Amino acid sequence: MLFDWVKELTTYLPTDFTTHHCLGCGQSTSIRHYWCSTCQQLLTPEITQRCRSCGLPIASGELCGHCISHPPEYDQTFVFDDYRWPLNKLIQHFKHQRQPLLGRALAELFYQQHATLPKGVLCPVPMHWLKKWRRGFNQSEILMQTFAQYYHYDYRELFVKPHASVDLIGLTRAQRRMIVKKNYRLKHDHNLPKRVILVDDVMTTGATLDELAHQLKQAGVSQVHCWIIARTPSPYAG
Ligand SMILES: [Zn+2]
Ligand SMILES: [Zn+2]
Repeated sequence: MLFDWVKELTTYLPTDFTTHHCLGCGQSTSIRHYWCSTCQQLLTPEITQRCRSCGLPIASGELCGHCISHPPEYDQTFVFDDYRWPLNKLIQHFKHQRQPLLGRALAELFYQQHATLPKGVLCPVPMHWLKKWRRGFNQSEILMQTFAQYYHYDYRELFVKPHASVDLIGLTRAQRRMIVKKNYRLKHDHNLPKRVILVDDVMTTGATLDELAHQLKQAGVSQVHCWIIARTPSPYAG
């Protein structure tokens, strides 16, 4: 990858040329690292056991109570960490201050946490064209492209989002499902891979990922995994 090549090259240059700033706190650090040692430490996930299905922290077992009573359409979720400081701030900066490099650095953190994961075709959660135009990029695509480089997996944009989002907070599961269903459309339902990996920055209710997984399964995909940078506790849990 280009950034790795730059990192390699700058190893042989004098120090003055090789310092840059930590993406977390702005302190000078080597160009070979995205983070200073303090930020790297702060960004180290606390060891928590997670529900295999939805990625929520659990005390014991494989699945959380919600996934046992209402199994989601996706099969497995891999999470870097909970949506907590400073990760939450970094994700907000990545998205709202047009900092795609931060997204690549967050994807690298995920890779360091999960270096070996089941192979599949990576797919971003789509964004409505107007929102993408305003933001400058779709954060899921940035993460997915970085994952494709690190894991050497293929990627395909399988969905379109013809309508802009509405706020799903406060709605029932059935209402959320109905809205989300209208918002996303599978572009191709032929030659789909056996396993699709849905990539997103934050997972909150899981309603969007559930609907995308539902459409994929209907079209014949046998397994759907989710790769997520940060997991918030679901406001609907319990
Ligand atoms: Zn730092
Ligand atoms: Zn669960």
